[in-house]
Amino acid sequence: MSTKNQDNLHPATIAAQAGGLLDTGTGGVVPPIHPATTFVRDETYTPSVDGNVYSRSHAPNGRMVEKVLAQLEGGAESMVFPSGMAAVAAVFRTVPSGATVLVQSQIYWGTTAWIREFCTRRAITLIEVEAADTDAFAEACAEHKPHLAWVETPSNPWLRIVDLTACADAVHAAGGLLIADTTAATPILTQALSFGVDIVMHSATKALNGHSDVLAGALSCSDADSGIWQAIRDDRNMAGAVLGPFEAWLLLRGMRTLPLRVERMSSNAMKLAEYLSDHPKVESVLYPGLPSHVGHALACTQMKGGFGPLLSFVVKGEAEAALGAVARLQLFHRATSLGGVESLVEHRHTIEPHTGIPEGLLRVSVGIENVEDLKDDLGQALGQ
Ligand code: PLP
Repeated sequence: MSTKNQDNLHPATIAAQAGGLLDTGTGGVVPPIHPATTFVRDETYTPSVDGNVYSRSHAPNGRMVEKVLAQLEGGAESMVFPSGMAAVAAVFRTVPSGATVLVQSQIYWGTTAWIREFCTRRAITLIEVEAADTDAFAEACAEHKPHLAWVETPSNPWLRIVDLTACADAVHAAGGLLIADTTAATPILTQALSFGVDIVMHSATKALNGHSDVLAGALSCSDADSGIWQAIRDDRNMAGAVLGPFEAWLLLRGMRTLPLRVERMSSNAMKLAEYLSDHPKVESVLYPGLPSHVGHALACTQMKGGFGPLLSFVVKGEAEAALGAVARLQLFHRATSLGGVESLVEHRHTIEPHTGIPEGLLRVSVGIENVEDLKDDLGQALGQ
């Protein structure tokens, strides 16, 4: 494996060339998979290859994907995990019992549900606040002095936009850290660390991998010497939430086309959002790219080059009409998740009926298909 100088390269180049990683053993332009779980020592009992001892602690394929992700994120270091939720859990396991955490309300339901349960179990005080309301977030920081605050932007499935700089300032002033889940933006649209976020999290299952065939999570930081980063690293090493070499290799392969996929997904999503906004059977469209979206101006400053694949819209006529439209869709798969090359649709109220999701809301993850085909499919499903 060898690397070329990556300074000053654009994300498209870093991603396409996998950060310059090659297979020096064969001259291959693709880095190899290293399945070994253990690595030999020489006669003096020194690891034969510096850093390689046992794959829970030192995994070559994990390191490769972390190196490329840190470059794309503009961060000091990245760590990968076997799922997005494993990355969420890795952060929260650093919070001491008795501390207070602030978590944005109405974010990805799986994150909320797990954090609630974990905080109860660990005697951690959990304050949920609408972080897209910057004043409410700042007041909560000043009042509760949280150990850390967790936000998600754009949020899933409400597509709320959080002011990362303002939130970072508020939580830092209160002595805490800001962690942001920017899965729906990807590092291509939002380099969250550049807005003062301390750790950025992604479900790499989504757009980072992009092909709906790897479950993975990632964290990246701006300060690799910070206490929280060291604690997460130690915890991953000892508790073992590591990504396997095959998944890491596939993730790196998926990331090679990330900038291209994000560009296409974003432009498709924008066109569909505009189309749906004018559709007589649609009550409202939630997409930060629309000038009518409450977070549009902020999104323009935080998201560069597009607004991502995730959009939600509310069908007139409640659950019956929404489920009727979903049943007629031919191209959009009725499946959860987001960020893949294929378009997906989900009736979120069916999944999380008690969280205030409108019954007519459909969440769509827009893929890289021809947008006219997608438009036609939505049109026939809604009834033109
Ligand atoms: N964060 C967001 C915004 C998500 O949408 C998801 C999954 O849907 C997760 C985190 C959890 O990631 P994973 O499913 O990879 O564990």
